[in-house]
Amino acid sequence: SKWVYTFGDGRAEGRAEMKNLLGGKGANLAEMSAIGLPVPAGFTITTEVCTHYYANGRQYPAELTAAVEAGIAHIEQIMGAGFGNATNPLLVSVRSGARASMPGMMDTVLNLGLNDVTVAGLIASSGDARFGWDSYRRFIQMYSDVVLGIDHHHFEELLEDLKSDRGYDLDTELQADDWKELVSAYKGKVQEKLGRPFPDDPREQLWGAVGAVFSSWMNQRAITYRRLHDIPESWGTAVNVQAMVFGNMGDDCATGVAFTRDPSTGENVFYGEYLINAQGEDVVAGIRTPQHLTVVGKDRNHSTLPAMEEAMPEMFAELDRIRHVLEKHYRDMQDMEFTIQRNKLWMLQTRNGKRTSAAALKIAIDFAHEGLISHQEAVLRVDPAQLDQLLHPMLDPNAPRTILTTGLPASPGAASGRVVFTAEDAEDWARRGEKVILVRIETSPEDIGGMHVAEGILTSRGGMTSHAAVVARGMGRPCVAGAGSVRINYAEKVMTILGREIKEGDTVTLDGSSGQVIAGEVPTIQPELTGDFGTLMEWADAVRRLKVRANAETPTDARTARSFGAEGIGLCRTEHMFFDPKRIIHVRQMILAQDEAGRRQALDKLLPYQREDFVELFTIMQGLPVTIRLLDPPLHEFLPHTEEDMREVAEAAGVDVKAVRSAAIALSESNPMLGHRGCRLGVTYPEIYEMQAIAIFEAAVQASKATGQTVVPEIMIPLVATRRELDLMKVVVDAAASKVFGATGVTLDYAVGTMIELPRAALRAGEIAESAEFFSFGTNDLTQTTLGISRDDSAHFLETYQRKGIYEKDPFASLDQEGVGELVQIAAERGRKTRAGLKLGICGEHGGDPASIHFCEQTGLDYVSCSPFRVPIARLAAAQAAL
Ligand code: PEP
Ligand code: MG
Repeated sequence: SKWVYTFGDGRAEGRAEMKNLLGGKGANLAEMSAIGLPVPAGFTITTEVCTHYYANGRQYPAELTAAVEAGIAHIEQIMGAGFGNATNPLLVSVRSGARASMPGMMDTVLNLGLNDVTVAGLIASSGDARFGWDSYRRFIQMYSDVVLGIDHHHFEELLEDLKSDRGYDLDTELQADDWKELVSAYKGKVQEKLGRPFPDDPREQLWGAVGAVFSSWMNQRAITYRRLHDIPESWGTAVNVQAMVFGNMGDDCATGVAFTRDPSTGENVFYGEYLINAQGEDVVAGIRTPQHLTVVGKDRNHSTLPAMEEAMPEMFAELDRIRHVLEKHYRDMQDMEFTIQRNKLWMLQTRNGKRTSAAALKIAIDFAHEGLISHQEAVLRVDPAQLDQLLHPMLDPNAPRTILTTGLPASPGAASGRVVFTAEDAEDWARRGEKVILVRIETSPEDIGGMHVAEGILTSRGGMTSHAAVVARGMGRPCVAGAGSVRINYAEKVMTILGREIKEGDTVTLDGSSGQVIAGEVPTIQPELTGDFGTLMEWADAVRRLKVRANAETPTDARTARSFGAEGIGLCRTEHMFFDPKRIIHVRQMILAQDEAGRRQALDKLLPYQREDFVELFTIMQGLPVTIRLLDPPLHEFLPHTEEDMREVAEAAGVDVKAVRSAAIALSESNPMLGHRGCRLGVTYPEIYEMQAIAIFEAAVQASKATGQTVVPEIMIPLVATRRELDLMKVVVDAAASKVFGATGVTLDYAVGTMIELPRAALRAGEIAESAEFFSFGTNDLTQTTLGISRDDSAHFLETYQRKGIYEKDPFASLDQEGVGELVQIAAERGRKTRAGLKLGICGEHGGDPASIHFCEQTGLDYVSCSPFRVPIARLAAAQAAL
C-alpha cells in the first residue's frame, strides 16, 4: 500500500477524486497544486492508515515511518528548509481531513517543529524576535491542548498574569522578551501537569500530533457529529502535514477565508473575511472582528475597517483571479482559506462551500445559466431536504416588531423560542417539547447537540464564518451571530441588550436573514415560490417519471398542494372530515345507535356534509385524480370523553347518559391500532361505507357538471388483509354507484382499489389484484405491522435503536428498505403479474422522504403521495431518482 501522498510546487501524487483516500482537504490540496495554484508543499497520510490504526490496536503500518520521512524530505527540498534545522527550520501544520468535512470536529496543530534551538533560526530568518517567540508560545499552547490534553485556560491564565504584572491591556503590547518568558512559563506548566517536559524533538512532536489526529476520530464530539450527519465510522480521517506559511509576520501578511459566491444568498459576489497580521484560526475563532474582502461587503455590513480590496489591492486581484479559476475548475461554489506571507499569496484549502438552501438554489440555477453545468446537474445540486427551509415561513414584514438589536445575518429563516444559555439546557428543554433559542457568547463543537435541537441560535461574538454561523447554516437553523450589544451572564442566566434584560425562558424571535433580534414572538408568512424555485421545479419535472400527489382532505390543504404542483390527491383521509363540531355529534349518534336503522338515521345527516366536502375537493383538483379512502380510525376515537359531551350525545340520540358511558367502555380497545378499524368497520357496518360511497358519487356527478372536467373518483379500502374483505366492500361501492348513476342519469368511470398496509396483503397481492384496480402502499401501518413496533409508542426507544445501529434511520420517517421494502417489492410484483396495468402508489409518510422516493423509483411505482408542504421536495427527489 501507498500510505503517503505528496504535493507542492505545481505537482501532486493525489487528485480531487481521491477524497476517500486523502480526505477532502488532502485531495483538494493535491488538486490545487496540480493545477498550478500556490500551495505550500506537504503530504497527506491516507485514511487507510487511520483504518489500519484502529483495526490493529492503534498500531501504524510498518512502512509508515519511512513514508513520512520521505514526505518530510519532499517538503524540505521544495521549501529549502530543514525540519529541526537550527538556522533555517522547516515548520509544519498538522491537520485532520476526513472524507466529508467535519467543521471544528477535529484538531489542528500549527508551528510544529519549534524548540529552543529552532526558534533562534525562525528569529534569524524572519528577522523578528517578537514573532519568533510568539509563534513558539502559540505552538506550545496548541500542542499541549490538542496532543497533551492540557486545557487552553491554563495558558491563558499565565498570559493574563503576565499582562497584569507588566500593566499591559493588549496582547500587542507584549515584547519579544515577554513572549520568551511566557514560553518558559508554559513549559513549566506542562512539566507541572504531566510530570515530564514538553517534547523538544520535532519528530516526536510530529508523531504526537499525527497520533492526536487519528485519536480525535474517536472523540465524543466527532462521534456526535458523525451520528448527526450519517457519516460512517469506518471512513476514518487523513492527516495533512504541510509547510507553515505565516500571516502574522507583519502588515504585509494576512489570513482569511472566502466564498466564491455569497453563501447566504448565492449572489455572484466575492464574499469573505480576512485579518491583517494574524495567524490561522484567528478569523474563524471569532476573537478579532474580521474585515471584509470587498468594498461591497464592507458597506453592506456597515463596517468601518478597510476592505482587502482597498488595503491590499494586488493581493486581492490575485485572490480574485484564483476565485474564478477554482469555480471553473470545480464547477461549484468554493469555500477557500488563504494566507498572505510577505505579499505572497498561498492557498491552504478549497472545498465545495456550505450554503443556505436559498443560495444552493440560486447557485445551481446561475451555474446552469452561465453554462458551467447542465440543467440536469443543476437538479442534482440541490438537496431536496434543504428545500424544506425555503418552504418555511418568514417573518411577516407588516407585523410590528420590537427590535432589540441587530447582529450578523448568519443563517436565514426566522424562529421564535424561549431563551436558554447552554447547549445542555437546550437539549433538556427541547426534550420537554419547548421551542428554544440557544444564546451563547460564541459556540464551540461541544454545543452542536444543543444547536441541533434549537429553533435558532444567537451569539454575541464571531463573524459570518464563525463556528456558530457555519454550523447553523449547515443545519438550516436561523442564526444571528456577533450581536455585539448583547451582554451575556451565564451565571445568572440572563442577557442584557442595550439595557433591556432578557431572562432564561423569555421569548425572542430571530431573523437570520436580516440579523434582527426581536422581543417576543412575531407572526410569520409563507414564502413565495417563484423565480429560481419555479425554474428548478420545471427542470426537475422534465426528467422525473414518478408522479407526485398530496395527502389532503381540507380545501386549504388541497389548494396548498396544487400551488406546490401536486398532480392529484393520493390520500384523502375521510375520518379527518368528521371531527368538525357540527358533525361529530352525528358521528357519535351513529356509533351509539342500537341498530342499523338508528345508524342510517345518523348517516343520513352526515351524507350532505360528506358530499359538500367532496364537491369542493373535486372542484379544486380540476379533474386531477383524487383518491378517497373510506373511514379508517378506531370507532372509540369519536366517543365523547367529558361528562358534558356524553350528556350532549345522549340528548341528541335520545338515550340515557348511562348508555353512552357503557357504550364508550364497550368500544374501548387495548390495541386500537390493531382493532376495529379500517375495512373492519365497513365489514361490520356496511352502511357507513355505503353512505360515503354515495356521497362520493353524488359529488363526482355534481362537480363534473360544474367544472366541465370529468371526475374519475378512486375509492380506496383501508387495512385490507384478504381479498374477501375487499370483495365485500366492492359490492357496497358498486351498488352505491349504480344507485347514484341511475338516479342522476349520469354515468362516470371510477376505480376501486386497496391500501396495502398489512404484511398479509402484501404477500397475497396476487389475488387481491384480481379485485383491486390500484394499490396504495400505506407504509405507516405496513412499517408498524412488519416491524411489530407501534407507530405511536416507539419514539423514545427508537432513538436508542438508531444509536446502536439497529435501524440506521427512524423507520417511520425513512422506509426500512430491506424489510418493509421487500414486502412492497413482492406486492408490486405479484400485483402486476395478475393485473398488468395495476396502478401503484405510496401514501405513507415515506412518500415525502427523498431516500424512500429513490426506492419507489427503483421499484417502479407510479406515484408518491405526501403532505402538501413536501410536494416540491418529492418532485425534486423523484427527478434525482430518475437521473
Ligand atoms: C398508512 O398507514 O401508511 C396510511 C397512509 O394510513 P394512515 O396513516 O392513515 O394509517
Ligand atoms: Mg394506515
